[in-house]
Amino acid sequence: MTIRRRAAVMLLMLGCPGLAAAAPAGPEPEVREVVERYFRADALGSADDLRSAFAPGATVLEKRGAKWVRLTPEVLAARSTAVAADESRSVRRVESLREDAGVASVVVAVESPTEQRRDQLTLRRVDGAWRIVKDRRETTPKPPPAAQMREIRTEWMKPVSPFRLLGNAHYVGASEVSAFLLTTPAGHVLLDSGPVEMLPMLERNVQALGFRLADVKVILNSQAHFDHCGGFAELRRRTGARIVASEADAAQMERGGKGDFAYGDDYPYEPVAPDQRIRDGEQVQLGDVTLTATLTPGHTRGCTTWSTRIEEGGRTYDVVFICGLTVSPFKLTNNPVYPAVAEDARRSIARLRSLRADVMLGAHGFWFDLTGKAARLARSRAPNPFVDPGELTRHLDEMTLDLDQALAAQERPRAP
Ligand SMILES: [Zn+2]
Repeated sequence: MTIRRRAAVMLLMLGCPGLAAAAPAGPEPEVREVVERYFRADALGSADDLRSAFAPGATVLEKRGAKWVRLTPEVLAARSTAVAADESRSVRRVESLREDAGVASVVVAVESPTEQRRDQLTLRRVDGAWRIVKDRRETTPKPPPAAQMREIRTEWMKPVSPFRLLGNAHYVGASEVSAFLLTTPAGHVLLDSGPVEMLPMLERNVQALGFRLADVKVILNSQAHFDHCGGFAELRRRTGARIVASEADAAQMERGGKGDFAYGDDYPYEPVAPDQRIRDGEQVQLGDVTLTATLTPGHTRGCTTWSTRIEEGGRTYDVVFICGLTVSPFKLTNNPVYPAVAEDARRSIARLRSLRADVMLGAHGFWFDLTGKAARLARSRAPNPFVDPGELTRHLDEMTLDLDQALAAQERPRAP
């Protein structure tokens, strides 16, 4: 659940493109160290560290409702007594850092599951060391998860006329939440259901192409988030199809999406126990369709990229359905719940570089310009706009940049 934001709330799922931190030079490392100390103290509740980041007589301005209230570092320190609630899900980013004529200005964003905070810090050298002389902080509450889910659904579930994409592969999903149907004489494979509310649209799309939902025999998943497998429990009741998922994402499906390392219990769906757990490199076969699972953890722990070969017009194409590589919205450093999140994401990107993809598809339409290509395909199938052998590499380059920028902006790994 990168690239460009469509609605402010989607930042949560998509992540904003990180802002590049300036190359360390001059006083930057020292300024950054003080900022790090301040926010680490804030996160961990160490009042002494927090006090030590400020110059004597420093000003703290806090926005409450429409007005600014003046506080002291002492008042902040007194509030800072314990590890912040949901610390593993609080993400801090240095959005900008500038130093000019002995004054440093730093903007930091702190995002927790319930609120977003922005601190504009001014630092000066006091007695030979950089200290915060002013903190202007503004906190805004986030909409509750249910409201965020509703907004995501309306933004992402715009109808798309279903169409045959390539060979026996069909698109039966919505504008930004994918669902793919691979048809065979022995029944069909469905990759992802969308959220449960998408099922009526999915069924209409399958029927409009002349197929029956009842003939779906195998259901595969990209990632165990509500917007990709929220309809699995109901779909299995209606079709009896076999659900195949990776071990880690199967466990998350059994919890109905709860206990997510990044979203906690915020985006639940009806729990479902997959019928088969698949390992890295294993294959799923139905009729003349064979799909290979490549585990690409990071966005979820069991995020699964599927690949297959599809024939059309006497040629065979390598097709890759990417699970999703976005981790920039998550806490990537000092994450006690998923310490290896950034390493896993980097390894997953490297892993996908070894796959050949004449066609790159994915769990969200905006990763592969679904609607643009669908419109071009409707005008002409030759050449097929979905065939683009360079697309996967370009996407992986973009995801590498997104990861690097997020890591540069987030906190530094703490000493053990
Ligand atoms: Zn997701």
